[in-house]
Amino acid sequence: MKTAVFSTRRYDQSLLTRANEQAGHELVFIQDRLTAETAPLASGCRAVCVFVNDSVDAAVMEILARQGTGLVATRSTGFNHVDAVAAARLGIEVVRVTDYSPYSVAEFAVGLLLAVNRKIARAVSRTRDGNFELDGLMGFDLHGKTVGVIGTGKIGTIFARILRGFGCEVLGHDAFPRPEFEQLGARYVPLPELIATSDVISLHCPLTEATRHIIDAQALASMKPGVVLVNTSRGGLVDTEAATQALKTGQLGGLAIDVYEQEASLFFQDLSSTIITDDVIQRLVSFPNVIVTGHQAFFTVEAIGQIMATTIESITAFERGEPLRHRIPQG
Ligand code: NAD
Repeated sequence: MKTAVFSTRRYDQSLLTRANEQAGHELVFIQDRLTAETAPLASGCRAVCVFVNDSVDAAVMEILARQGTGLVATRSTGFNHVDAVAAARLGIEVVRVTDYSPYSVAEFAVGLLLAVNRKIARAVSRTRDGNFELDGLMGFDLHGKTVGVIGTGKIGTIFARILRGFGCEVLGHDAFPRPEFEQLGARYVPLPELIATSDVISLHCPLTEATRHIIDAQALASMKPGVVLVNTSRGGLVDTEAATQALKTGQLGGLAIDVYEQEASLFFQDLSSTIITDDVIQRLVSFPNVIVTGHQAFFTVEAIGQIMATTIESITAFERGEPLRHRIPQG
């Protein structure tokens, strides 16, 4: 099936091509993000394959529908960038990758936590420069600390298991509690209690209208002074301006983010030779107790392999008129 693959990077092209060897779909690789301006590039493609910063809003859906697209397949678990209501109205099926190595993201979140707490990135850049001073590099033991996990699904539960291994007390908050989480010796508590009592808070819930800015100025103010916040889920969960203020006052002791509210115009590209006009991210990266990575938590051999295989499987199922196992939830 002719499929336009937006936001293609070198690794997408080679790995999707490999996953497609048996299926033989006609893949058209497009480097640009999908927007209303670039949507005509998918003309004649029954399927369109997108990634997290493609904007598949109602206007784009209308163009795709007019051009004959019947399937949007996102190479991600999150689907907050897709207008599901418009898709349903226009008869476009939307599939995602329901399941791929949740270890990739959970392990990366632990890595970010260690890096920001123990100042590992700072230490490495210092030693490269011949500076072996320890001043400014002191962290705290994770052992015995309270870690709050917001969203205890696949990734949050694995993150919790790893932190239990570190000897942390783990608190969780989720709209749908899971027995596996409590079996780890972790406890569910109301969100305000989690926010007020955790030394570390890690976000693992999806971005929805209910969770947008779940970490806002008020939540930040009610946290323990010096709390460390880790976000590998979606940028819109955190009010970045409020987090910046909390960093300035020291209320936020550390911030490690793999996702950023305005990441669409920045991430997945090399901007090192350009002037970055986003003052918020520039301010954030200037703090010594902030670590920013460019949405790479999913980026392991295992996860990417599963993402590509599931995407091809969905395109094949759509072509054959078979049930779609990875449809996004309706409504
Ligand atoms: P999941 O569906 O297994 O878990 C999400 C959990 O969040 C569910 O248990 C759900 O009940 C809970 N939740 C929903 N609304 C909530 C609310 N208002 N308050 C608290 N909890 C709520 O998903 P997952 O596979 O664990 O992925 C979690 C998120 O991680 C995804 O939605 C995505 O945004 C993000 N993610 C990021 C990367 C990355 O590379 N940085 C990669 C994959 C996923």
